[in-house]
Amino acid sequence: MSSHLEDVDPAVADAVDRERERQETTLGMIASENHVSEAVLAAQGTVLTNKYAEGYPGARYYGGCEHVDEVERAAIERAASLWGADHVNVQPHSGTQANMGVYFAALEPGETILSLDLTHGGHLSHGHHVNFSGQLYEVAQYEVDPETGYIDYDELADQAREVEPAMIVSGSSAYPREFDWERVGEIAESVDAYHLADIAHITGLVAAGVHSSPVEHADFVTGSTHKTIRAGRGGIIMCDDAYADDVDSAVFPGSQGGPLMHNIAGKAVGFREASTADFREYAERTVENAAALASVLRDRGLSLVSGGTDKHLVLVDLRDSHPDLTGKDAEEALAEVGVVVNKNTVPGETRSPFVTSGVRIGTPALTTRGFGPAEIERVAHLIADVLDAPGDDATIERASETVDDLCEAFPVYE
Ligand SMILES: *Cc1c(COP(=O)(O)O)cnc(C)c1O
Repeated sequence: MSSHLEDVDPAVADAVDRERERQETTLGMIASENHVSEAVLAAQGTVLTNKYAEGYPGARYYGGCEHVDEVERAAIERAASLWGADHVNVQPHSGTQANMGVYFAALEPGETILSLDLTHGGHLSHGHHVNFSGQLYEVAQYEVDPETGYIDYDELADQAREVEPAMIVSGSSAYPREFDWERVGEIAESVDAYHLADIAHITGLVAAGVHSSPVEHADFVTGSTHKTIRAGRGGIIMCDDAYADDVDSAVFPGSQGGPLMHNIAGKAVGFREASTADFREYAERTVENAAALASVLRDRGLSLVSGGTDKHLVLVDLRDSHPDLTGKDAEEALAEVGVVVNKNTVPGETRSPFVTSGVRIGTPALTTRGFGPAEIERVAHLIADVLDAPGDDATIERASETVDDLCEAFPVYE
C-alpha cells in the first residue's frame, strides 16, 4: 500500500508531471479554469475516495460515515455562510449534475425551460439538444441584443409571456456582463415560473461580493466549484428551505449514487479559503485584471462583445478586426506562444462551433498566480501582436519570451 504512483504507473505519473509543467510554463486564460491551492489538492488526494456515503450527513445508507459526515457538514456550513443560502447540497459531481438536480427537483419531463442561447453565452446544460436537458425538456431560448451585446430584459419579459416556461434559467459561460437577477426573478414570478440562476463561472466573485448575488432573487442557484472559486472540480446547489428535500432527493438517489467524498473535502477546504480577506482581494483583482485586458484589447482595435466586461472574462469577436482569422486560428496561434485560451462562438455566429469567430479570454488563473493589471497589460499586448501577425517568426519569438519571463516570475506552485 505504500507504493508510489511513479513506480506503479510510470506512464500516468509522467503525464501528470508534464501537465503540471504545462500549467507552470504557459499562461492559462481559459475563463472557466483556475489553480487550486496545495491544501485543496491534498484534501482531494485522500483516503476519502474509498468511502461510500450514500445519503446525507447523519442519515447514510452505510456504516463508518462519522468522519466523512464531519467533512460534508463543514462544506455545507461554509457554503451557506459564503453565499448566504438557506439550504446547500454539495454532492453534485459537476455543475451540469447540479443543474440536473434542480431540473429533476422542479420540473416534469416535457415542461419548458427558457434559457440563454449557447452561442449568446449560455451553457450546454441549459437545454442544448446534445445534452440531456435538451432531450428531456422543451426549450425556448433568449438572446443578447445584436447591437449592444447586452440582454434585453423587456424582450425577455415578452418572450416569457409568450412561451410560458416552467423555469427561466439565468447565468452564462461567455456573457461578459452582470445579469440583472432581480429583473429575471420578477419576470419569472410574473409568469409563475421558477428562476434558476446558474453562477458556475462566478461563484467566487459572488462569494467575495464583487459580483451581485442571485440568492435573494432565484429559487435555485447552481454552480461549479472549480472556476472562480478554487475548491476543486465539482458542483453545488443552493435553494430555499422549501425546496431542500426535493433537491436533496433529486441529487441522491435521483441522479447520482455515492458522493465523491474526497472532492467534497476539497470543496470544504476551498470554501474555507474563500472566506478570507485574501480571497476577497483575489476576486477584486480578477475583475480589475479583466478590465485592464479589455481596455488594451479595445485600444488595439479588437471588438469585444458588449464592448467590455463586468467580470472575469472578455469575449473577442474577430469578425470586424480580423475577418479572415477564425476563433480556431486565434486559439492555435496563441497556443504556439504559450497563451491558452478557447475559441468561442459569438452572438450571430456564422461559423461552426469547431471553428467559431471568437475567443474567450479570462483572468481567474493568472490572477491566482499573482498577476496584476501591469502584467495583464503586457499579456494583452502580446495577444494583440500575435493576432495581428499570426505565424510571424519575430512576433512568435518575442511573445514566447514574454510568456517565459512571466511564468518564471509567477510560479503556480512554488
Ligand atoms: C461551467 C458551467 C457549468 C458546469 O460545467 P461542469 O463542467 O459540468 O462543471 C454549468 N453552467 C455554466 C453556465 C457553466 O459555465
